[in-house]
Amino acid sequence: MSASNFSTPSTDPSKTDLILVVEDEPTIAEAVRSRLQSEGFQVEVATDGPSAVEMCTNLAPSLMVLDLNLPGFDGLEVCRRVHQYRRVPVIMLTARDDETDMLVGLGMGADDYLTKPFSPRELMARVKAVLRRSESAGTAGPTLKFGAIEIDPTTRRVTENGAELHLTPTEFDLLRALSEAGGAVLSREQLLAMVWGYRDGSGVRTVDSHIRSVRAKLNSQVIRTVHGVGYALDPDAGQAEQATEGASTDEALDTDGPES
Ligand code: CA
Repeated sequence: MSASNFSTPSTDPSKTDLILVVEDEPTIAEAVRSRLQSEGFQVEVATDGPSAVEMCTNLAPSLMVLDLNLPGFDGLEVCRRVHQYRRVPVIMLTARDDETDMLVGLGMGADDYLTKPFSPRELMARVKAVLRRSESAGTAGPTLKFGAIEIDPTTRRVTENGAELHLTPTEFDLLRALSEAGGAVLSREQLLAMVWGYRDGSGVRTVDSHIRSVRAKLNSQVIRTVHGVGYALDPDAGQAEQATEGASTDEALDTDGPES
């Protein structure tokens, strides 16, 4: 997939971003619509899975705010069908935190997740961050190499020993950020700011979840956990951690959640 398929660039200031809101609960749909419109976005609302796919195909929105539990078929199926044709950034709305964990684990291609209930301010921060990321995603750069792994920022392809890895957009951005740091340790707060665009340090568990899913897709374990600090790329990370205490340091950081 070429970088130009990743999003609809909105560099033309006369063109406002269209956001497709897919939500079957009318009060939530209306609250989200009015907030987005007050921020200057164009908004369309779909209330079930099939119409979401149809509207997404016809309207080519810049972003979808997508409820997980919908009539017809659910948000996962909407994502799957839509992403066959076009890479639309998605913020998935879930009813519970464990639903979010499950979805991140599946690597279903949502760019971010928001658990209900959420504040309009929080939603706006996420929408702007995802749009900012998708607009800069086409930025070209040199191919980055780390051990057997090659990251091409232009095509957004990652290969390991020449075989393509299928990373979600967020997983790609995370691996790219670590790679561009050239082996330096990045804290979870730094990664959150670089990849998700958040500045307030909230949601560091999101970083751990995505690190886990990137690791699961890589054969060589190049992501080193720096206990209590963050993560770094290290070509010998797998060997070093095996030589000391196996994966136990990873587990401690991954399962304990944020440490202050
Ligand atoms: Ca619902």
